[in-house]
Amino acid sequence: MESVLPTPGVGTGTSHQADTSSTSGVSKQYDFIVIGGGTSGLVIANRLTENPEVTVLVVEAGENRKEDPQILTPALASSLYDNPTYDWGFLSVPQV
Ligand SMILES: Cc1cc2nc3c(=O)[nH]c(=O)nc-3n(C[C@H](O)[C@H](O)[C@H](O)COP(=O)(O)OP(=O)(O)OC[C@H]3O[C@@H](n4cnc5c(N)ncnc54)[C@H](O)[C@@H]3O)c2cc1C
Repeated sequence: MESVLPTPGVGTGTSHQADTSSTSGVSKQYDFIVIGGGTSGLVIANRLTENPEVTVLVVEAGENRKEDPQILTPALASSLYDNPTYDWGFLSVPQV
């Protein structure tokens, strides 16, 4: 399973230069392309790759953060909240 992070700042109102560093080695063709490497997207990709005959690409928005300590360190999770570099900042309507 490949994981790609090609489109920084999508929907955040911010403008960044695209970071395509994680696209090196990506094939031109996959059996399945999963858009969004969040909870459900990664569950689906994980299930699909249980079949070794199947190729799967996960496309996740944002910069390449594979080596970012703020992502890799669980204790730093709260530092990501409301941080537009990491957090989409979407809000729901008030909940009852
Ligand atoms: C602060 C917080 C704490 C939470 N705690 C819990 C908890 O303890 N237990 C629990 O069960 N749930 C918890 N939740 C809820 C849980 O995180 C969500 O319900 C779940 O992640 C939703 O999964 P999803 O796959 O629908 O969306 P997401 O996990 O949000 O995945 C969507 C993915 O798509 C990506 N994406 C969006 N647009 C594009 C695009 N154009 N191109 C490529 N990729 C794109 C996003 O970056 C994201 O990675 C919490 C949520 C928040 C905000």
